Amino acid sequence: MKKREFWFVVGSQFLYGPGVLDTVAARAKEMAEELSKVLPYPLVYKVTAKTSAEITNVVKEANFSDECAGIITWCHTFSPSKMWIAGLSSLQKPYCHLATQYNREIPNDEIDMDFMNLNQAAHGDREHGFIAARLRMPRKVIAGYWQDEKVHKSLSDWMKAAVGVAVSREMKVMRFGDNMREVAVTEGDKVEVQIKLGWEVNTWAVGDLVKEMNAVTEAQIDAMVAEYKSKYDINTDNLEAIRYQAREEIAMKKMMDEQGCMAFANTFQDLYGMEQLPGLASQDLMSKGYGYGGEGDWKVAAMTAIMKAMGEGGNGASAFMEDYTYHLVQGQEYSLGAHMLEVCPSVAGDKPRIETHHLGIGMNEKDPARLVFEGKAGKGIVVSLIDMGGRLRLIVQDIEAVKPIMPMPNLPVARVMWRAMPNLLTGVECWITAGGAHHTVLSYDVTAEQMRDWARMMDIEFVHIDKNTTPEKLEEELMIKDLIWKLK
Ligand code: MN
Repeated sequence: MKKREFWFVVGSQFLYGPGVLDTVAARAKEMAEELSKVLPYPLVYKVTAKTSAEITNVVKEANFSDECAGIITWCHTFSPSKMWIAGLSSLQKPYCHLATQYNREIPNDEIDMDFMNLNQAAHGDREHGFIAARLRMPRKVIAGYWQDEKVHKSLSDWMKAAVGVAVSREMKVMRFGDNMREVAVTEGDKVEVQIKLGWEVNTWAVGDLVKEMNAVTEAQIDAMVAEYKSKYDINTDNLEAIRYQAREEIAMKKMMDEQGCMAFANTFQDLYGMEQLPGLASQDLMSKGYGYGGEGDWKVAAMTAIMKAMGEGGNGASAFMEDYTYHLVQGQEYSLGAHMLEVCPSVAGDKPRIETHHLGIGMNEKDPARLVFEGKAGKGIVVSLIDMGGRLRLIVQDIEAVKPIMPMPNLPVARVMWRAMPNLLTGVECWITAGGAHHTVLSYDVTAEQMRDWARMMDIEFVHIDKNTTPEKLEEELMIKDLIWKLK
């Protein structure tokens, strides 16, 4: 995984004299070191900034640093904000303002004017916050004591969202074939996503993939099958189908790695020269952090890769998902999500088993091998990025996944069952009102707040459907946002 870090930039001024500035610098370094022990990425103390030039220089350095995924600022003392204008105006990296204080308590006996002048974050952070508001900067404000777990959680979540920004700006998507014929929601403006989100979305011929597949050796396939056996149960006698999927996975991974692609899309309508739609192959690639979208859906493919990278350990429990069918028994209303093959095993609640079954859709000459499992229970979100024409809208809905309430022994694919917020049917009304797709990324470890942070940093519209959303309120919100985004 790529090395990523965040920079700690502390504001001050010359007014206090060298003694105070030395104390500020020493404490800032100590805080960065202590926070680095509990945060998912290192926080590197860079500078106690006292001049416009110092701020501009550290921002220039941050903009060009491949490792720097964002800056975190704080004002131990007062830092007049006009000197931040040039630097902040040129900042191209995610920005978080940590409103904290070195000391937790006001020391009753010790406090005097010297103490007040050294420890005036309450004062300094307000001046600092004003200028970012005045500059209309997209930023995250986190307030709290720097040693508190709650602050660590907020900083961790924001850092992961900022890494999602870095991953987005590096994102390359490999398309095998075009979008499924006639489908609207999977379409989008590839130039717009490259401008806004940084994604390079390009196509490669299925015939070239088949050439790569033919070049895969039996020894390579043996090694891949051994890897499958170490991770999954084999529940089929059709070993040839498993070997064919291994061949597909090796070839797709080679092509993607050669091009630096972290996501791919394919379509069952274009399998020319392939015997099976990649099932197990796509699922195993997703487990390794690659994003995938079915039916040519490159938007969901890229979002899957980005949200995986934002999750635990840089490859979290996030999966390409599709709302398939409902259970509408009163009091136990659920969505059943699945796909024709390709559900990522990172969301499995039990050990996935490899099975082969007939697949009627598409041009499969042979039965594709796939992983079959039940999704785990837990709170999560589903996410859909749609192209509204002139702008992108990110829709996030809170969900509660359950262990599927029935075994469904004849369903030949992995399945996840959940209830959308505020409840299934109101949730469906809201989702459809907002224009959300049937394809989503379902995540157990990326939160709606992180997606809100990500959307703010990417400068795209954000819509959140949660336990308090009503279709009426949402309709008004969408009308207002429509106006705002036409003006922006
Ligand atoms: Mn689909």
